[in-house]
Amino acid sequence: MQFKTMSVHSGQRIDPQTGALTTPLYQSSTFSYVTAQAGKDRFAGQSAGFIYSRFGNPTTAELEQKLAVLEGADEALVVASGMAAVSAIMYALADSGDEVAYIGPLYGGTDAFLKQTFSRAGIKVSAYESDHDLLANIRPATKVILFETLTNPTLKVVDPRLVVEAARKVGAITVCDNTFLTPYLLRPLALGIDIVMHSGTKYLGGHGDIIAGVVAGSHALMKSIRTVALKHIGSPIGPQEAYLLQRGVKTLPLRMDAHQHNAQKVAEFLAAHTAVKRVIYPGLASHPGHDALGAFASGFGGVVSIELAGGFERCAALLDNLQLFVQAVSLGDLESLACHPASTTHAAMDEVTRLAAGVTDDLIRFSIGVEDAGDLIADLATALTRLSPAATTS
Ligand SMILES: *Cc1c(COP(=O)(O)O)cnc(C)c1O
Repeated sequence: MQFKTMSVHSGQRIDPQTGALTTPLYQSSTFSYVTAQAGKDRFAGQSAGFIYSRFGNPTTAELEQKLAVLEGADEALVVASGMAAVSAIMYALADSGDEVAYIGPLYGGTDAFLKQTFSRAGIKVSAYESDHDLLANIRPATKVILFETLTNPTLKVVDPRLVVEAARKVGAITVCDNTFLTPYLLRPLALGIDIVMHSGTKYLGGHGDIIAGVVAGSHALMKSIRTVALKHIGSPIGPQEAYLLQRGVKTLPLRMDAHQHNAQKVAEFLAAHTAVKRVIYPGLASHPGHDALGAFASGFGGVVSIELAGGFERCAALLDNLQLFVQAVSLGDLESLACHPASTTHAAMDEVTRLAAGVTDDLIRFSIGVEDAGDLIADLATALTRLSPAATTS
């Protein structure tokens, strides 16, 4: 079956009791086991059945089956947020004394988790600049490698095939945050990656109404990640959020096609505009990762970043001139969003790291929505026209 068919049908069954077509919302914290012996058996794992919604819930379980099919994984796990996914994966896979490698820059929350909290468990965290840097310099002590396929907000491309090659040298476990591309555009497990994760808040949910996280991989690795995430850290998704996430996932291919179509048009418009210093979108042939991404993924995603000469003041003027784009962080919503990363999402990062990651004061990030591309371009054109010319010194 093709992805579009699987995203609608997989992991879904007609409710045997009522005939309900869509996954029912089981808004219950606990599940009765009728007899004491049945309770004993269920707790011992000798009989199937739900016990308590922190360990598992029928609405969430159907969603997990759908996501496992879409990722080509043995098993998927849905948790309360992308950060809950990252932290459970890392705590489950690394022990004190181990070394964890990542390719930077990472999502700000992940970067802060690794450096401020996770490192306190006696785990060494080391950064690499690119897939090639990792391949050339990986250390034998490395136990886990974490990377994002498209980094935020500068859209650097990391090739999962090179990460797998580096990991094989030292026997490390590979973890891919594929939030920006989604399984519709890339299935990292098919390239040999061990664990794939997402912020389900973004494209998978797709409607800007939930916070969620997804992890998928082999039964062997997922067993401990599931236990840590649900039983120890205690970060299950609520059934209402699981219901909304499964509804969102059904239209993922339709929405991604629209996001990408619009992103390409917007990027081409901005690239031709004299007021814009630089456009960063992997769908443009000028992007350094264009060919690499084209070789391992089936699309370029829906995030476009630009640089405007003039720092915060001029970026703020452009953002304030926009009528249709909404000023907000996050991405993957139906609505087009715009933000100035240096003063918002990356404000907590120290300046040296931030500038080294390319998050300058001149940078604006757009999450391109599913509106009409012409309307989005008209909004940008008007906002750019109203902008005063950049000072010639900048
Ligand atoms: C948003 C995001 C996260 C964190 O996800 P939450 O759902 O906000 O906890 C992790 N990684 C990437 C790439 C993200 O964009």
